[in-house]
Amino acid sequence: MDIDHLIEEQIDYYRNRAVEYDETSRPVYDSLARYWNELVAALDRFQPRGEVLEIASGTGTWTAELLRHAAHVTALDSSSEMHEQARAKLDDDPRVRFVHADVFSWKPDSQCDVVFFANWLSHVPPRRFDNFWQTVGSALRPAGRVFFIDELRDAWREDVVAAGETPVVHRSLRDGRRFRVVKVFRAPRDVESRFLQLGWQAHVHPTGPFFWADGRQAS
Ligand code: SAM
Repeated sequence: MDIDHLIEEQIDYYRNRAVEYDETSRPVYDSLARYWNELVAALDRFQPRGEVLEIASGTGTWTAELLRHAAHVTALDSSSEMHEQARAKLDDDPRVRFVHADVFSWKPDSQCDVVFFANWLSHVPPRRFDNFWQTVGSALRPAGRVFFIDELRDAWREDVVAAGETPVVHRSLRDGRRFRVVKVFRAPRDVESRFLQLGWQAHVHPTGPFFWADGRQAS
């Protein structure tokens, strides 16, 4: 499988999905709301203060939560359409700097206190996992911290994940167009032990079909 093409298709999918993302990213009757509240509470306890980099910031839903603590948020996403949605949602908050980039080829131009991402790690192809964490590490100041949120399993979709080295699902837009998207469900223990091998200490906390994790580079 050509990972570069898959990454491009995934970028294209989210560019085209941006206008419908908020309406289609949760079940109609949000049976998952109590887990969402737990994730927000965990982020509040973590206190993402100072300069925060948010990777794959999307329509800005989590950017708004970060801004309750952060001095500034750099919101990186490969979709200018997502940024447009976020700008409107955040009322052009001057504390937010939008960076339009593919994180797999992006190099940080400064260092921050916290790196955050939600619903992103499961879209990182296994073959890009280590490089992705190198990028996260180079974006952080010494003693910088990381916080991330994702699904442990299918939270509410009926995705059929094609097994293989790079697990892939097919996602459709409202107009019927279909795209391939990487979707990797990682077990908490696997994530923690992989992190240790890469020089990170992270604790993964499951809540319903989701997890949140906090960590830092081992000194
Ligand atoms: N974090 C947001 C949230 O939880 O609502 C959005 C999550 S959405 C599942 C994934 C986001 O990743 C989309 O906004 C998409 O544009 C972005 N994305 C996809 N591929 C990317 C890449 N290679 N580099 C940076 N962002 C990417």
